[in-house]
Amino acid sequence: MDLELRDKVIVITGGAQGIGAAISEACAAEGAVPVIINRDSEAVQSFAAHLRDKGNRCELLTIDLQGPETCKEAVEETLRRCGRIDALVNNAGANDKVGLENGSPQEFIESIHRNLWHYYSMTHYALPSLKAVRGAIVNISSKTAVTGQGNTSGYAAAKGAQLALTREWAVELLPYGIRVNAVVPAEVMTPLYRRWLSTFPNPEEKLRSITARIPLGKRMTEAAEIASMTVFLLSAKSGHTTGQHLFVDGGYVHLDRALD
Ligand code: NAP
Repeated sequence: MDLELRDKVIVITGGAQGIGAAISEACAAEGAVPVIINRDSEAVQSFAAHLRDKGNRCELLTIDLQGPETCKEAVEETLRRCGRIDALVNNAGANDKVGLENGSPQEFIESIHRNLWHYYSMTHYALPSLKAVRGAIVNISSKTAVTGQGNTSGYAAAKGAQLALTREWAVELLPYGIRVNAVVPAEVMTPLYRRWLSTFPNPEEKLRSITARIPLGKRMTEAAEIASMTVFLLSAKSGHTTGQHLFVDGGYVHLDRALD
């Protein structure tokens, strides 16, 4: 299926690592131009080089999205380099374990800032460009938005708000033909996930206990499977889909546990 994404400029926050990297790869494979926004590091640079070595066009903006004006800067720099923005994937985030007992009101606000603030800000600044082309937005949320996880109030609140904003923005942007959807992962092996696993006394055993409960195939979701859903939602092939929360999780959140 041709997703008709050739030459489309797609901004992907955190697009050099984990799920974001898989989305950048999938966009590049469709002939689109991923604009990757990441803090600078060797891994980030080498991911962009890897995409270019494969003959893809991509832009890398080494920006920390948490700074006060950095989302504005990210959008302006994208427009300077590419002249347009066709789609936005809000993806950057981190499960930072700020809970009720293991956190403070100040840390809660910081977690919201880390995980939610830039979803709004990137969308706010990219909006005039998206309006010009009837663009699309995908928010990457998390199963914690609907299941909770414990000891991670800030992250869970941010992830829940991303689902609410997906619906809110889908409504607000109807007149412009801009579609807004969310993809909800549960268990995907990424640097973030590895860091989280490593906090358990026996990470291997923990991983086995998690995968044993994933209904479809008793396995983790591949980052590429999150990416496939995301590029489909960005494409005109999903032209009548908006305000939806797509759980790409092997049935982890919704299927009956009795099936096990
Ligand atoms: P990851 O491996 O840590 O990748 C996230 C990327 O975003 C990293 O490159 C990170 O850069 C970047 N990033 C984070 N904050 C940033 C900021 N302020 N400015 C610029 N870049 C920033 O994480 P992932 O597992 O792929 O997660 C991606 C998304 O999926 C997140 O929204 C996460 O909540 C969601 N998710 C993941 C899972 C899972 O199982 N992996 C499950 C549910 C939801 P640094 O390395 O510099 O921090």
